[in-house]
Amino acid sequence: MSIQPPTSPDRGDFIREIVAADLREGRHATIVTRFPPEPNGYLHIGHAKSICLNFGIAREFGGRCHLRFDDTNPTKEEQEYIDAIEADVRWLGFDWGEHLYHASDYFEQLYDWAVHLVRAGRAYVDDLSADEIREHRGTLTEPGRNSPWRDRPVEESLDLFERMRRGEFPNGARVLRARIDMAAPNINLRDPVLYRIVHAAHPRTGDAWCVYPTYDFAHGQSDAIEGITHSICTLEFEDHRPLYDWLIENLPVPSRPRQYEFARLNLTHTVLSKRVLLRLVNEGHVRGWDDPRMPTISGLRRRGFPAEGIRDFAAMIGVAKAESVVEMGMLEHAVRDVLNRTAPRRFAVLDPLKVVIENYPAGQVEEMDVVNNPEDPSAGTRRVPFTRELWIERDDFMEEPPAKFFRLAPGREVRLRSAYFVTCRDVVKDAAGEVVELRCTYDPATRGGDSPDGRRPKATLHWISGDHAMPAEVRQYDHLFSRPDPGADGRDLFADLNPDSETVLRGCLVEPILAEMPAGQTVQFERLGYFCPDTDSAPGALVFNRTLTLKDTWAKLQAQGRHNTA
Ligand code: ATP
Ligand code: MG
Repeated sequence: MSIQPPTSPDRGDFIREIVAADLREGRHATIVTRFPPEPNGYLHIGHAKSICLNFGIAREFGGRCHLRFDDTNPTKEEQEYIDAIEADVRWLGFDWGEHLYHASDYFEQLYDWAVHLVRAGRAYVDDLSADEIREHRGTLTEPGRNSPWRDRPVEESLDLFERMRRGEFPNGARVLRARIDMAAPNINLRDPVLYRIVHAAHPRTGDAWCVYPTYDFAHGQSDAIEGITHSICTLEFEDHRPLYDWLIENLPVPSRPRQYEFARLNLTHTVLSKRVLLRLVNEGHVRGWDDPRMPTISGLRRRGFPAEGIRDFAAMIGVAKAESVVEMGMLEHAVRDVLNRTAPRRFAVLDPLKVVIENYPAGQVEEMDVVNNPEDPSAGTRRVPFTRELWIERDDFMEEPPAKFFRLAPGREVRLRSAYFVTCRDVVKDAAGEVVELRCTYDPATRGGDSPDGRRPKATLHWISGDHAMPAEVRQYDHLFSRPDPGADGRDLFADLNPDSETVLRGCLVEPILAEMPAGQTVQFERLGYFCPDTDSAPGALVFNRTLTLKDTWAKLQAQGRHNTA
């Protein structure tokens, strides 16, 4: 697969072209799409692509988009997932209004349509086991073989199907199959299974059913019931389309939806598969579905990614029919773009080094006005307390600075952002020779960060008042998988997990205003990156996530024309 170059955000894709033509040529008066998640896990960024596509088309073309839970497999589905999916779609900025549906809403109708197919000689109850059905199916090069039960009388199938529903048979004893063509080149048409026996309680229908429709039997018919005009799904369903159409043609459904396929999103350095993500959670590789390293929507939210950044990313990657892999850097770029515009700037010191300003009065506190966002004047300023004892970043000082190190060093003057110029006069070390304190002086004439004589220090540092600093834990993240293509070439996927995907820093200090910041807001720690409070954060035990660093390597590569390695 090739690495996908970005497309222009406002370029119409092939699906939008189809929709526009259908409206223009009067095939539909209103566009109806749906997003159909199976509630067997949390949504990931791949689903976000599908959500932005389906809800986006409905919005752009004045139609509507349904949220429909494809809840046909009760053994894997849970209420927790249903709730999380609804919350995630809303958070992304989309609204289904009145149109919340479940495939399980249609179980009675679907059952009646299955009976209709049996009556018409187009479906039969098969007594073969799952293994035997597989053996009879044939291969891509060999046709399948008919089941010995394929020609059993209609009345017998009707009776057995009803008894299946009544619960007379154990799991796997029988199935209902469509009667199409065991020699069809498309294996999906070789008498596909429509109903299986599953004795399991369903999150919505409880114990009402012990036969459940397959995805293939539920999906298109649900689309038809809801009047979906464009049933948009990922490419793996392309081979299912003839079956989708066969069912629509052979059932008295109220409308005729059509299925269109697009390429799923693949991202480097991660995995977009609920099955794998569930394993990461269950095997304790991450803190949960919403771990900030997870590619889930809830994980990205906890990490501090704004919904707008995810929507922008979806627009950037566009929609196409060719499989490709998108660089994680492109998602990060879209998010940085939003955060650079919107995130308030704050002071935090991750690895504190004490500074004492010898000529500043002890006990004095000055409230310095600091700009909240140089990109957004309307964000105003805030007051940050300045005192005699301060903290700066340990790596902003070097006792013996090399040529290109312009920050603090003995005898050197630097600017403390929006405060004063300070000069390092002396270095205090502990018994082990480690620098523990800098003795500095300040120039009172430089208040606010400018000198009347035009002096310009080469470095501007962030700082925090020793009397006002709030302690915090900071969690820094890197890719969940160390390789861009986890599990490729037959490697064990889990062996590609990045052992350094999370680094926890303790003893960090943040400016007081950050103690009151609610979760769900992301700020820039000046000179360090974008950060947000974690959901674990509590008064007196602050925890921040690093959303992203400031550096945008993807933008740099793009500028050099190197993003496209295809
Ligand atoms: P997974 O492969 O992660 O288990 P799924 O396809 O089984 O996902 P569903 O809940 O069935 O998950 O998906 C709901 C919708 O989201 C489907 O229409 C599916 O095509 C779409 N979708 C799933 N994964 C992606 C992806 N990576 N890119 C784009 N769309 C996706
Ligand atoms: Mg699925």
